[in-house]
Amino acid sequence: MRAMRLRHPWAAADGAFTPLELDDVPDPAPAEGEVLVRVSACAVCRTDLDIAEGRVVAPRYPVIPGHQVIGRVAGLGPSVSDRREGDRVGIAWIHSACGVCRWCTRGEENLCPYFESTGCDAHGGYAEYVTARADFTYLIPDLLSDTEAAPLLCAGAIGWRSLALTQMQDGDALGLTGFGASGHLVLQLAQKRFPHSAIYVFARSPSERAFALELGARWAGDTAAPPPEPLAAIIDTTPAWKPVVDSLAHLMPGGRLVVNAIRKSRSDQPELQRLDYATHLWMEREIKSVANVTRADVRALLAFAPENGLRPTVETLPLERANVALAALRTARGIRGATVLRFDLNNDTL
Ligand SMILES: [Zn+2]
Ligand SMILES: [Zn+2]
Repeated sequence: MRAMRLRHPWAAADGAFTPLELDDVPDPAPAEGEVLVRVSACAVCRTDLDIAEGRVVAPRYPVIPGHQVIGRVAGLGPSVSDRREGDRVGIAWIHSACGVCRWCTRGEENLCPYFESTGCDAHGGYAEYVTARADFTYLIPDLLSDTEAAPLLCAGAIGWRSLALTQMQDGDALGLTGFGASGHLVLQLAQKRFPHSAIYVFARSPSERAFALELGARWAGDTAAPPPEPLAAIIDTTPAWKPVVDSLAHLMPGGRLVVNAIRKSRSDQPELQRLDYATHLWMEREIKSVANVTRADVRALLAFAPENGLRPTVETLPLERANVALAALRTARGIRGATVLRFDLNNDTL
């Protein structure tokens, strides 16, 4: 099968930014409890860039990235009873979890110390085929096309979890810092779930700010610009520290900042020196990170999306152009919504 593989984390000395290579590799075979999935679409996530650049380290290289995978079940390993060949399924970031630890037994497998990730610990969906544990696959509702469903599996699901972690209520003012694949889905989710809440978007790129206003944000400004009112909750989806410090100053007393990033950039870490207790944390302002997503998050979002008309904006690229998609994330070149690697481009059945 064809796969875009990361031989080793890309380093500046490697020259041009082409971390992934197109390889022909043997098709994977499903093990006990696993399904083989023929991939039709795989959305690109910032975490894929973190893996490509080595901020998130894979246990083995080469590795095939990609953890927002849509495809059809093409084979069953032993002991699989709840999936059939031909089922249209999704595969998300959690490839497996231990099932018995403190967190797994509470349905918080996102915090399991033994969890393995798709597209990092296990091969992911930047390939024609991938294997996954059947109990970590999701049936995709008919109303969602492959390319619409793919970004829901991480960008959307982590947005769902982030919104829950804000503990905001309808009418509370919400801020979003960064407006990429996840931000544009959180905006739509928040509009549906909290119709009386004003949503304010902070983004560096003018095109992202314009996109936010198109989608119904009440206001959009640069990351340091003061919003029209103090915010009860903010969700940060940027890779940087500056927006974290800036946005804490915009929180109202008792407000919560939810940071949605698997890693933060080291390059602007000195921004944290600006953190002033009285301005940024006093009055019970708090910061909480959001880690991974549970199966319950993914299922809830996949049920919510078609019923509520949640529609990701996507740009599609063929598999072999995955490096272009990663490069666009890296240079923050105003992508509208999510990028999805699309297979079988000639077979346009969507
Ligand atoms: Zn992701
Ligand atoms: Zn566990």
